[in-house]
Amino acid sequence: MALSVAIVGSGPAGFYTADSLLKADPECRIDIIDRLPTPYGLIRFGVAPDHEKTKNVMRGFARTASDDRVHFYGDVDIGEALSLDELREMYDAVVLAVGAAHDRRLGIPGEDKAGVVGSASFVNWYNAHPDFVDRTPDLDTSSVVIIGAGNVAIDVARVLVKTPAEMAATDLPDYAARPIHGAPISDVYMVARRGPVEAKFTNVELREMGHLEQCVPQVAAADLPAEVTGEMSPRDRRVREKNLETLRAFSEREADEMPKRVHFVFFASPVEILGGEHVEAVRFERTRVENGRAVGTGEHYEIACGLVVAAVGYLSLPVDGAPFDHKQGVVVNEEGRVGPGLYAVGWIKRGPTGVIGTNKPDGRDAAQQIIDDLGAGGGKPGREGLEALLRARGRRWVDLEDWQRIEAAEIAAAAEGAPRRKLYRHEDFLAVLDEQRAAG
Ligand code: NAP
Repeated sequence: MALSVAIVGSGPAGFYTADSLLKADPECRIDIIDRLPTPYGLIRFGVAPDHEKTKNVMRGFARTASDDRVHFYGDVDIGEALSLDELREMYDAVVLAVGAAHDRRLGIPGEDKAGVVGSASFVNWYNAHPDFVDRTPDLDTSSVVIIGAGNVAIDVARVLVKTPAEMAATDLPDYAARPIHGAPISDVYMVARRGPVEAKFTNVELREMGHLEQCVPQVAAADLPAEVTGEMSPRDRRVREKNLETLRAFSEREADEMPKRVHFVFFASPVEILGGEHVEAVRFERTRVENGRAVGTGEHYEIACGLVVAAVGYLSLPVDGAPFDHKQGVVVNEEGRVGPGLYAVGWIKRGPTGVIGTNKPDGRDAAQQIIDDLGAGGGKPGREGLEALLRARGRRWVDLEDWQRIEAAEIAAAAEGAPRRKLYRHEDFLAVLDEQRAAG
């Protein structure tokens, strides 16, 4: 009998696992389950709206989803519609690919004040994630502090300072474009607790900040070392050298060249969010880097702001029915194996680092482990069991054809030049499906 595999989560890690499984066992049957009606996870809700090219991987995922051996079950929340244990009873193997969609906290006083948001919430908000569309941040400020020096910090800064024209050919939803473009933001401070050499952003993303229509990058030349020193891989050294070169060019730009500025601030660790109920400033301790670590110097200063975005990494939440390592923020696993017939891939396996392609080897490893552990034959009911159970519970799900209807409706509604106008209300998804069902 064909092996039945359920993959929970339809982001890159889930789809790369499905790809690898189809190659490793051409007879297998794969069901990709997502709690949302739309597939692609981080590609839809994490990648910045103005990075449409990065979303091209969706085309490959769409081909995988259209394979006869693969079914999509959207709007099915494991833990709510059915439990992980029930799923494991129905499938020979279950792969957890649920990612890390939540905010890591700063852990400093004042971070619960109004006007302090995590980058996961903020990015999900401007990317029309159904759970976040109503969490409109207060953008009525001239000054924003972004804490962190990774690619997410850069994404957030860029989306905040780009002009309506620069965002016109994107899928930034209207409800986010209005407050962002109407905001009086003139200065965005991106603050790193370590130095420019230790910053996590990649060079293409950093360079992009030098080519904005209305915003000039600023950095203090005194913060830039003459060269990259220390032990690291040749690849890392190249990225860091390029970053230094880019930052050196930024240090020569004039502050009044443009109406807006993004300031790259290094060697500053946040110690407190100041203000009354609403944030008014962030207090930082100046640092120096010793053996790669930020060490406080005892000198403090403040940056006034009306919005703080903490872009200090994402967080996975525990999955009911799977062991969880709260310290590492991952499902307890041995190279991806969680328990009999249970596997993990992507950020829930190894934490929130790496780019989209970093998930490919996870998928390959999980496919190989499944074949090694279970052979090519299965015996569990798989999708027949799942559909019977969902029907018995009166649950409707979004299948591939339904998703394709939603996608067609989003493309048809797009403004000129934009790729799509995302739907985000549950009732709107269902309305599209009901309309099409009635018409068909
Ligand atoms: P990240 O790359 O890990 O960066 C997190 C930043 O937050 C680091 O600068 C880190 O500083 C800082 N930080 C962490 N805890 C802090 C604290 N308590 N106080 C002050 N600063 C703190 O994470 P990310 O930006 O969320 O990105 C996640 C992954 O997605 C990355 O692998 C990233 O490359 C990828 N991504 C890629 C793209 C793209 O390719 N365009 C776009 C978005 C995201 P330390 O280094 O000192 O810890």
